[in-house]
Amino acid sequence: MRRRSLATSPGHKRPPTEQIVKYQCAHRWVFKSWGGQLEASQETLAPLKNQEVTLRVTHCGMCHSDLHIQAGGFDMGGGKLSSLERSGVGLPLTLGHEIVGEVVEVGPEVTRVRVGQMVIVYPWIGCGECPTCLRGDEHLCVRAARNMGLHVPGGYADVARVAHERYLVALGTLEPARAATFACAGITALSAIRKLPALTADDWVAVIGCGGVGMTAVALLSATSPANIVAIDPDPAKRASALQHGATAAFDPRPADAFKLIGKACSGNIAGAIDFVGAESSSTLAVSLVRRAGQVVIVGLFGGEFRMALPLFALKSLSIAGSYVGSLPDLQELVALAQRVKLPEIPLDLRPLGSVNQALDDLSHGRVAGRVILLP
Ligand SMILES: [Zn+2]
Ligand SMILES: [Zn+2]
Repeated sequence: MRRRSLATSPGHKRPPTEQIVKYQCAHRWVFKSWGGQLEASQETLAPLKNQEVTLRVTHCGMCHSDLHIQAGGFDMGGGKLSSLERSGVGLPLTLGHEIVGEVVEVGPEVTRVRVGQMVIVYPWIGCGECPTCLRGDEHLCVRAARNMGLHVPGGYADVARVAHERYLVALGTLEPARAATFACAGITALSAIRKLPALTADDWVAVIGCGGVGMTAVALLSATSPANIVAIDPDPAKRASALQHGATAAFDPRPADAFKLIGKACSGNIAGAIDFVGAESSSTLAVSLVRRAGQVVIVGLFGGEFRMALPLFALKSLSIAGSYVGSLPDLQELVALAQRVKLPEIPLDLRPLGSVNQALDDLSHGRVAGRVILLP
């Protein structure tokens, strides 16, 4: 049966016949049981409807949360695990929410994107209709999340379907491997930075955890904020990299006197601390480091639970915020920013999609500096 294709849209070239055939089927790496290995799978795609778009995935970033999704949930502390299954996430599941690709087919009502265009996907898709979605925070939708790489198939595949053309941001002049990281690592870092108070050149910001997202935050802060940055990570290679990407100082959090050393190096003037680890030790450190009226932002999903004395909230005028990925406007702003300002570059580790299980294993054992980018 002939599929409706881009050929129906005026001004679009019809692709060669073999391409039309090819994009009727998606080859994906899926897991079929929680904690299971990924295996190659194939699915016939339904014809495109309305403003849906099909992409040929060219690059897909690998995120730490992919490990939690594969495992089936997050450590909530006290021996409790969250369950993706109980929250309605089904199997088999195709991971991958940092997707860059080429538009290869568009639905009948698509007007803005065109075939052949390189785009970055905004993957944190909500219902699009509830008050949260309508104010631009689809990533916080509580009605019917359709996150790519979680609720709907993601980018660990040769092709990806996107629900609406508005979730696509033109790649422009950006390097695709680097831009793939914007959809999660980039906007997670940007959205967390936005929760900090206004900063001056005398202020310090502590960035705790310098993996892909933390390193992006160091880079974004150094490009956009006058504040000094102290990078905190147990890995000396990551500390060295953070210094290259704009941090003023870097510390290992493990020694017993680390908290004192860091506070002294920053003149006791840490206005904000962003915890990209989200473990008990990292959050405790963040709260201890910030000055009075300081802001702590917790981003990482390592897991566990966190205790602190209640009077400290008042005595320190302390604020603690959580931050989860970012909005579609955050992605649009980051893409525009990256084309205007030269952002320091976080290290990338390009690998073929077929080696995805090895890459996940390396990521889970901390054998990756920066970000793994899968190439389908
Ligand atoms: Zn992610
Ligand atoms: Zn919604």
